[in-house]
Amino acid sequence: MLMARVKFGKCPSAIDTIVFDDLAHTFMAALLRNWQILHQYDLCWLDDQMFAYTLLPTAAPPEPQYFSEWTNQALNKLLETGAQIPLWELLDDRGSDELLSLDADTTFVLFTHFLDKHSPLMCLKSVTPVAPYIIPKTVEVQDEFYSWTNTYRDIDSLWMSSSGALESAMYALLSNPSSELSKQGRALCKYIESVTNRPAYYFLFTDMEKKREWKSSMRTEDNRAVEIDDLSKCPSCSESWIRQSLIEQPKFRDLFYYQCHPCRLIGNHIPG
Ligand SMILES: [Zn+2]
Repeated sequence: MLMARVKFGKCPSAIDTIVFDDLAHTFMAALLRNWQILHQYDLCWLDDQMFAYTLLPTAAPPEPQYFSEWTNQALNKLLETGAQIPLWELLDDRGSDELLSLDADTTFVLFTHFLDKHSPLMCLKSVTPVAPYIIPKTVEVQDEFYSWTNTYRDIDSLWMSSSGALESAMYALLSNPSSELSKQGRALCKYIESVTNRPAYYFLFTDMEKKREWKSSMRTEDNRAVEIDDLSKCPSCSESWIRQSLIEQPKFRDLFYYQCHPCRLIGNHIPG
């Protein structure tokens, strides 16, 4: 991620600052929804001029060729007031760029977590996020992509911080291939695969340690045997997982470890 500042300048005399503020918010929100800025943004005033601080997916300012219709409308409304063209300034020289092009053998995985601020669409070959705005998509798919990502991150955050029934409910959403969250994510993968002609896998999270803990407590409370899932099988089709790391980098070797090609699922290595 690359920190950046955008200067909106002085409020045009024809409008008041509240309207100027709203127009800048609309422009930034449109960029955010189109993944041309990342995570969030903050507006501020300095010496009578308005600025916004945010994160960029690449070292270049958001490119108009990728603007959504909403972004173009928001920018036009801003400029019609007499406001200056927003000026971007990069404040970071060490961040890495998201990918803006695809190789013929690119394979995707849809993967994110509560600390992630990048695109959730990752190229498995380079283990680098792919900028979602290079993928052709309808407004509806764009909204679903944005909504699924934020929902997944919220659920992952709750899973990390909660306990008891809430923790197990969040875990079920993350780990069950048929949960609403997984169904939405897998539908997005199917869409990405159909428009790019490249395989797109859905990452299915498993935490075996927690699973064993819960099974054990259930057995005690209900006095009945509960079978631990056969983790050698894909939970969607019950065929054996292919077990081999998909990538060489040690940092990710255990993360993308199990795979089922027909179900387009990838799972993490489970210790023990
Ligand atoms: Zn399967």
